Amino acid sequence: MSEHAVVIAGGGPTGMMLAAELALAKVDVAVVERRPDHVLVGSRAGGFHSRTIELLDQRGVADRFLAEGQVAQAAMIATTVLDMGDFPTRHPYSLGIWQNQIERIMATWIAELPVQIYYGREVEGFAQDDDGVDVELSHGPSLRARYLVGCDGGRSVIRRAAGIDFPGWEPTKSNLIAEVEVTEEPPRGIRHDATGVHGLHRMEDGKTVRVIVTEQQLGPSSEPTLDDLSEALVTVYGTDFGIHSPTWISRFTDMTRQAEAYRAGRVLLAGDSAHVHYPAGGQGLSLGVGDAVNLGWKLAQVVNGTSPQSLLDTYHAERHPVAARALQHTMAQGALQRRDERMKPLVDMVSELAVMDEPRKRLAGIISGLDIHYDLGEGHPLLGRRMPDLDVVTADGPLRVFTLLHQAKPVLLNLGEPGGFDISPWADRVQLIDAAYVGPWELPVLGVVAAPTAVLIRPDGYVAWVGDGTDTGLRDALATWFGPS
Ligand SMILES: Cc1cc2nc3c(=O)[nH]c(=O)nc-3n(C[C@H](O)[C@H](O)[C@H](O)COP(=O)(O)OP(=O)(O)OC[C@H]3O[C@@H](n4cnc5c(N)ncnc54)[C@H](O)[C@@H]3O)c2cc1C
Repeated sequence: MSEHAVVIAGGGPTGMMLAAELALAKVDVAVVERRPDHVLVGSRAGGFHSRTIELLDQRGVADRFLAEGQVAQAAMIATTVLDMGDFPTRHPYSLGIWQNQIERIMATWIAELPVQIYYGREVEGFAQDDDGVDVELSHGPSLRARYLVGCDGGRSVIRRAAGIDFPGWEPTKSNLIAEVEVTEEPPRGIRHDATGVHGLHRMEDGKTVRVIVTEQQLGPSSEPTLDDLSEALVTVYGTDFGIHSPTWISRFTDMTRQAEAYRAGRVLLAGDSAHVHYPAGGQGLSLGVGDAVNLGWKLAQVVNGTSPQSLLDTYHAERHPVAARALQHTMAQGALQRRDERMKPLVDMVSELAVMDEPRKRLAGIISGLDIHYDLGEGHPLLGRRMPDLDVVTADGPLRVFTLLHQAKPVLLNLGEPGGFDISPWADRVQLIDAAYVGPWELPVLGVVAAPTAVLIRPDGYVAWVGDGTDTGLRDALATWFGPS
């Protein structure tokens, strides 16, 4: 039986991001992925939003994705584009990039890191005891791990085997999604009607057309066929455009559910295994990457023995509310896609409100993930919010704050008197950087905030402590987040 500190079930975007985070923290990590390799058949998700680009930037890999995608103002509500061009971030936009490209780039990245991947194997179940978890695989011997993380998607085997409830809302509508060839040129753009949203889009190869069509009735859970797609298209467009040669046909619904707990002993959930929703707003992949970046460093510290297991409870405490809010948001988005006589006035009203500055910023803050605020108590507005990627000057010259996070190591950024802090007991765990910054401190949605004299930045880029000219509370924050002195 092979042993690893952490086994991740599922090598989708969440599983790969988590593997990278753990490998950066020098944890022996293995991914079990049932596909024979990283290739994803079908394009699936169409990209991600600003905070996800920032998370990748914090690890120094955002450029790989930016080079292949297209930046755009893609966050929308009803008929209004939520332009976030004025948001104080280096990436005030979304990135259009297909999920199969995202997964290819991620697979290339983790291949550069010490991550073991077992392709072509399926996790079938597990048994946990006080010291670890036996992970049963479909082919070959079991694996032994100290922790198992289910990143195995919405139908998660791990969630079920852990007995974690998945309450929420049953599906009310379904969409077919496919990549096909056509004999008739399809119309451009998206069509809305009383059923929902429909659209055909010619892909970059000039030959394949990506189709999304809302079905008239909620479809069955069986795999859809080309005939199902043809029928759905004829109902909406009066023709099926001569669809043929499908490379991928799938069905998704507006089922909306969230795991009651993100942890059961030594087993954790992240990504779609912990929450599923209608893809309106395009937040699913981003939520999973966010889960992975929140969990990775905490799990690494527990595995490495620097923090107690209770640190893992903060993962649920911080990430469950984030997904719960996204679920509410996607249900609202899904409802606004129906454009019948009774819904249209609501769509118009929301669209009118959304162009106003305050609602635009608030809604864009949710979709982009830039407004995430973990509840770390009362205090400066930066506490529990993302650290801005400021241009600071250090003794070694100018640098961007995000570059300090490339190795996923925490930072105490001292912006006051150089040498003003002594964190010797944590010196091996926390980087202490003296730096100067002149300029405003501006947060997305909130606006300008008072300049702090120091900030303690967690490896996920969230601020764990804010200095006001003293070091009051710093040792407590260091011990809470990075282990006892
Ligand atoms: C049409 C559509 C459009 C979307 N658009 C967007 C968008 O624009 N932006 C966005 O952010 N999100 C979008 N999403 C959502 C996004 O695709 C998902 O949220 C995302 O894929 C979740 O990633 P994950 O890694 O958690 O799960 P998955 O991508 O489902 O990955 C799970 C992985 O686990 C593997 N696996 C499953 N079971 C096992 C097992 N037992 N053993 C081993 N391996 C297993 C699977 O093969 C898979 O590779 C969209 C989804 C759809 C359907």
